[in-house]
Amino acid sequence: MNLEKFISNRVREVKPSGIRKFFNMVAEVPDVISLSIGQPDFVTPLHIREACIEALDRGMTGYTHNLGIIELRRGISHFLHKKYKADYDPTKEILVTVGGSEALDLSFRTLVSEGDEVLIPDPAFVSYEPLTILAGGKPVFVPTYEEDNFVIKPENIEKKITERTKVLVLNYPNNPTGAIMTRGQLEAIAEVVKKYNLFVISDEMYSELTYGRKHESFASIPGMKERTILTNGFSKAYSMTGWRLGYIAAPAEIIENMIKIHQYSIACAPSMCQYAAVEAINNGDADIEEMVKEYDKRRKFIYEGLLEIGLDCFEPLGAFYIFPSIKKTGLTSEEFSIRLLNQEKVAVVPGSVFGEHGEGYIRISYAASMDAMEEALRRMKRFLDSL
Ligand code: PLP
Repeated sequence: MNLEKFISNRVREVKPSGIRKFFNMVAEVPDVISLSIGQPDFVTPLHIREACIEALDRGMTGYTHNLGIIELRRGISHFLHKKYKADYDPTKEILVTVGGSEALDLSFRTLVSEGDEVLIPDPAFVSYEPLTILAGGKPVFVPTYEEDNFVIKPENIEKKITERTKVLVLNYPNNPTGAIMTRGQLEAIAEVVKKYNLFVISDEMYSELTYGRKHESFASIPGMKERTILTNGFSKAYSMTGWRLGYIAAPAEIIENMIKIHQYSIACAPSMCQYAAVEAINNGDADIEEMVKEYDKRRKFIYEGLLEIGLDCFEPLGAFYIFPSIKKTGLTSEEFSIRLLNQEKVAVVPGSVFGEHGEGYIRISYAASMDAMEEALRRMKRFLDSL
């Protein structure tokens, strides 16, 4: 039976993820060194795991408030104030979600109406385009360039503005490039946002993972809080990807509307995980510091290693990705990644899965052991020599 006519138009319009296709290919090759996955390689710190066990022992196994438990919302509010001078009322401006992924889905579905245009940096995290389409909107890509340190430029945003432009997506620290933005650069974007009356989805999932320079939140730029949905979560900062916990900080009116979706589709984030997150957000700064120190060591190692084997590379200052250029090999990023996988059993992600302007690059995750990276560099050198 042909089921296609039963599938909704919007779902049909979404292309299968390029990253999924590549992961399936990697799964079929045994003994691969994988530098492809966007997941910390640390186990969640013990005191956070214990907080979950304690919550279970206390029988905290029921539904929670739709917005999340108030202790967690207070913790998030305190954290955003302490770190980024972004002030949110925990009773009505913070919503706990199932991962950063639900936070993004709610953001697009709450803001986007049929035909609204959403500006998305290119290259970018793979979810923004399909979430825009599923919400009925039209993705419009704003290129970012290595020569600008992969930072989105106000003039490039302006070139893409039309009467239907409604939302601008920002993602700094950036997946896949590792770029971060200075306060001055964010202020320049804020001018464009005001001028064209836009709303911003600022995905700050990697806010805690920066090296040498602190993250600046777009919501803390004067006048931007009322025009911004800030999304973040516990997955990367506290190495809690499997707990599925994220959050949104936004004006109360936005949260009230988001709740209409969240209460029917999710009800609430898992209760025992929320108690673990209270411990993480209140007492997890030292864990972050330790993990950042380790990532920074690996970052320097892989950056210098890639230059040494002859791949030009922008120095990333955030997240745990590096995005070297493979243009001089003459291969497309997909050809490069598939051949490297088959010839040397090293998995990286083709830059093209992150957008047209990711072509000519590969994404390497350095959330991997030093030993794995050392061996991967050796194999990559052999691969480059064979071309
Ligand atoms: N935003 C960015 C930029 C990401 O890289 C990811 C995950 O890779 C997410 C959001 C989703 O995070 P979560 O695993 O908490 O759903």
